[in-house]
Amino acid sequence: MSVTHGTQTTAEPAPGPVGASGQDSADPSAMAAVVASVKAALPPDGWIDDHIRLRTYECDGLAHYKATPALVVLPENAEQLAAVVRACAAHGVPFVARGSGTGLSGGALPRKDGVLIVTARMRAIREVRRQDQRALVEPGVINLDITRAATPEGYYFAPDPSSQQICSIGGNLAENSGGAHCLKYGFTANHVMGAEFVTPQGEIVQLGGAAPDSPGYDLLGAVVGSEGTLGIATAVTVKLTRLPEDVRTLLAGFATTDEAGAATSAIIGAGIVPAAIEMMDALAIEAAEAATHCGYPAGAGAVLIVELDGAEVEVEHELAQVERLCREKGAFELRLATDPAERALIWKGRKSAFAAVGRISPDYIVQDGVIPRTALPGVLKAIAELSSSSGVRVANVFHAGDGNLHPLVLFDDAIEGAGQAAEKVSGAILDLCISHGGSITGEHGVGIDKAAYMPKMFTDDDLDTMQLVRCAFDPAGVANPGKVFPTPRLCGEVPGKRKRAHPLVEAGVAEAF
Ligand SMILES: Cc1cc2nc3c(=O)[nH]c(=O)nc-3n(C[C@H](O)[C@H](O)[C@H](O)COP(=O)(O)OP(=O)(O)OC[C@H]3O[C@@H](n4cnc5c(N)ncnc54)[C@H](O)[C@@H]3O)c2cc1C
Repeated sequence: MSVTHGTQTTAEPAPGPVGASGQDSADPSAMAAVVASVKAALPPDGWIDDHIRLRTYECDGLAHYKATPALVVLPENAEQLAAVVRACAAHGVPFVARGSGTGLSGGALPRKDGVLIVTARMRAIREVRRQDQRALVEPGVINLDITRAATPEGYYFAPDPSSQQICSIGGNLAENSGGAHCLKYGFTANHVMGAEFVTPQGEIVQLGGAAPDSPGYDLLGAVVGSEGTLGIATAVTVKLTRLPEDVRTLLAGFATTDEAGAATSAIIGAGIVPAAIEMMDALAIEAAEAATHCGYPAGAGAVLIVELDGAEVEVEHELAQVERLCREKGAFELRLATDPAERALIWKGRKSAFAAVGRISPDYIVQDGVIPRTALPGVLKAIAELSSSSGVRVANVFHAGDGNLHPLVLFDDAIEGAGQAAEKVSGAILDLCISHGGSITGEHGVGIDKAAYMPKMFTDDDLDTMQLVRCAFDPAGVANPGKVFPTPRLCGEVPGKRKRAHPLVEAGVAEAF
């Protein structure tokens, strides 16, 4: 079975400002100078230059893009990491940050001509300050470990990507990651108060802080979600959230996704913000049942999982309203988890859905797009039409409350042309998201995978303006080049309307999408 996240099953990395594509070999003299600096700054086991071991790092969670880095470094602290970045900056060698490598858009894809800076040895939780509701953690700390450290104090870290057992807080910050419970609590951006940050020149700076607001431009805001293109976080101050007094989980079975979508809108429209509202359609239910025997309502065309949390009295009140609204919109079965085991079983079906799809299809693409919640019925209908006209099956699993779709486009790579047909449907779904006022990514980022889609959402002027921000941080273009933006818009360029094609496009070095 092959699993493909994103839009394509085979692709070349997009071009970037440093070098062209990241497929070029490293400049030997520049790399030799960087290696010498690295050896002076890091302990002997702090770098890897053996080709076989380097291959361990050749991709992230989007495994169909691969590149073996010229050098991997494993710094133990900010000073070591900054020394590596300074060496790269001095010799014009690109670098890419990597946390746990679970990203699904190729953000941590290395460059053959560059250095991969891995934060896996920076995993200290330095402080949990209950009185301030803050924790100070190093960038390689695993998301769930923050919650584990804070739980004895009655707190947890709210952003909960499904990968929370393995992904790092540095990666969460760079991707502005979300999860099922971000509907109520917000994304990583809402929980990061400050960051120690190494600029692309190798300077260690402090952005934001433990206090709620700092004067001046919101540079922390610029850095969160920047996918490693503005520098590298070396410590993060996060906000902790009080553990709720009560949590109730409701499973609702509907005949159609239209009804389930209408129930979602009705719940939010009634002023209730559940901790999570997740939806799965018939195909996704079939896969989850086959894999986990989660006991979802038989014959359901869609299920909703609605989780409410907070003070007990408030949860009770909201639960009654949610049950009523679900029935009004057509729910034929409502099941309230009565103990932790039942709650876990309800979530097990949802959380295993991606992997479970392997039970009903040998290959699949995981897409990530977002739409305004009210557009759900129209977009789901259009996806169904795309599916029936192309003959490509699509299973829908998503964060319904946020309108964050994760269509699973199913295919069998053994059938000639099936992969291409699936890619076409996958891309058409993104077009649907854009045309309904949504976006090409809800939480997995742009990385290398969706850079080509950026011009579908933004004009040249928009992209040039974004590049001005990037160039302000990184005029030499050494920080994760080739990611997020589709063409090499160089820092020396004056943004604005182009009278002719980009010089690199004219020279045939780069492609405009
Ligand atoms: C099974 C599975 C389920 C997932 N579920 C979710 C989900 O529910 N929600 C969600 O949002 N995502 C999800 N993801 C995607 C992924 O886990 C997140 O994007 C996560 O935040 C990446 O963290 P990481 O440590 O693995 O980062 P990496 O993959 O190592 O890197 C991701 C990006 O961050 C940059 N980066 C890493 N560390 C730093 C740093 N210290 N400073 C600056 N930049 C840095 C990298 O250069 C890269 O661009 C899932 C992935 C998998 C495999």
